[in-house]
Amino acid sequence: MNLLQNYLSGRWQAGTGQGTPLLDPVLGTELARVSSAGLDLADGFTFARETGGNALRAMTYRERAGLLAAIGKVLQANRDAYYEIATANSGTTKKDSGVDIDGAIFTIGQYARWGEALGDVRALSDGAPARMSKEPAFLSQHVLVPTRGVALFINAFNFPAWGLWEKAAPALLSGVPVIVKPATATAWLTQRMVADVVEAGVLPAGAISVVCGSSQGLMDALKPFDVVSFTGSAETAGVIRSHKAVAQLSVRANIEADSLNSALLLPDAAPGTPAFDLLVAEVAREMTVKSGQKCTAIRRVLVTAAHYDAVAQAISAKLAKVTVGNPRNDTVRMGALVSREQLDNVKAGLAELRGQTDVLHDGASAPLVDADPAIAACIGPVLLGTRSPATADRVHAVEVFGPVATLMPYDGLEQAYDFIRRGEGSLVASVYSADAAQIAETALALADSHGRVHAISPEVAAVQTGHGNVMPMSLHGGPGRAGGGEELGGLRALGFYHRRSAIQAETAAIDAVTAASTPFAR
Ligand code: NAP
Repeated sequence: MNLLQNYLSGRWQAGTGQGTPLLDPVLGTELARVSSAGLDLADGFTFARETGGNALRAMTYRERAGLLAAIGKVLQANRDAYYEIATANSGTTKKDSGVDIDGAIFTIGQYARWGEALGDVRALSDGAPARMSKEPAFLSQHVLVPTRGVALFINAFNFPAWGLWEKAAPALLSGVPVIVKPATATAWLTQRMVADVVEAGVLPAGAISVVCGSSQGLMDALKPFDVVSFTGSAETAGVIRSHKAVAQLSVRANIEADSLNSALLLPDAAPGTPAFDLLVAEVAREMTVKSGQKCTAIRRVLVTAAHYDAVAQAISAKLAKVTVGNPRNDTVRMGALVSREQLDNVKAGLAELRGQTDVLHDGASAPLVDADPAIAACIGPVLLGTRSPATADRVHAVEVFGPVATLMPYDGLEQAYDFIRRGEGSLVASVYSADAAQIAETALALADSHGRVHAISPEVAAVQTGHGNVMPMSLHGGPGRAGGGEELGGLRALGFYHRRSAIQAETAAIDAVTAASTPFAR
């Protein structure tokens, strides 16, 4: 039995019991097991908090940026092994594995570069000194210093690589040790990356730990200066939010939950225009990249009633070309969902949406390539459509975490915004048009309910980064249903791992404080 070890208290430790098996979602074979049973979590958290935290806080931002650069090199050197693990455990094609693995390496490299520029200081100044009285002798200066605790990451199954490093990069750069608990289904890649970084000896003891298996007891181990960053379902998010650590000890929590992201074709983008083609290509891509298992994937597509049929036909034509099955076969464009359980969830979600929609393209019953439908967690893309989005309430409420999207018509932009807002807060909306002024107006109208508005016009067709691609320079998170969290957004991400304090003192002391810190230029 290949029981993956946990790294806690600065040493590798096996959980007790038989553990939970990790499966190949295409072949159904067992790959490894995980168990966190019997671990002394309190000791592990104390070790990270004290040994890891002290070592990291003793370093400057520039030195910690050096740690990130070193991690990036370790990950780069082991990249081929990560691709193999992703194929086996996530059932992803090479391209889709790259979204996770290379996305992780890119993000960590970006934070290494940004961190380098923060220089050899251990604090950040926030804003300018403010006079506290008529006399300029007594001033207030806000500063940011790393929190004296650990950062616990409870992650989702769909990004075992990026999900770790997009959080760990700003945490470690801030001087905060990391404890990651990957989702069980795909824990292997996270565990292996941590193992490689530990083996390379590039981080101080206690700076990184990994717990694979049950989440039992993790939240109980948190103390007031710790932070927890969660990515996963709205249901588990509710458990985290109401846990004593968050509700009573003021442990800061960042939540990234589910989201019904939209793509909006503006009225100027008629069939035959580049903006129309850009929407069609983006929707088809978003539905199929990682088999639609991206929290940012397009779930709702809004077009004017006049273009509904043309859009349905164009997207369906693209989806019809998508071959689904075993990612080891080079002809396969879309691999598996992460598990049979997820396949069941997708089918249940589809059944619920089908009650209120028409099926415009049905890839669900298409034959699989090199995969047994009785075993593989594979399903082809399904485009649904409703001409009554005002009454079809499920399409604004049910997130099918797979290759599924729903097309709907709108009558006037205000109505389109209303439909989009019925998602009750989303990670991203994308807008397609050649009219820059209208793009600006629409982006501002949607900004209050989205962490990101991605506008695609013909001018940016070749350089745009993709609706669902989370780039480290831009905010990731969304209000309301999306969890209310904020990640990335350049150096803004450091805010979560720092404490802000107002230092009130005489001018000479304030001068000394600002001399010992770098302005927090977000
Ligand atoms: P989930 O069941 O909530 O699991 C997420 C993580 O929470 C896993 O590591 C899970 O561990 C852990 N967990 C489960 N119960 C827990 C508890 N009582 N206390 C503490 N941790 C607990 O979510 P999922 O169904 O696997 O993930 C899919 C969802 O994630 C989708 O709805 C998707 O929208 C969302 N997602 C959001 C984002 C984003 O950035 N907003 C990104 C990706 C995914 P186990 O795996 O061991 O159960």
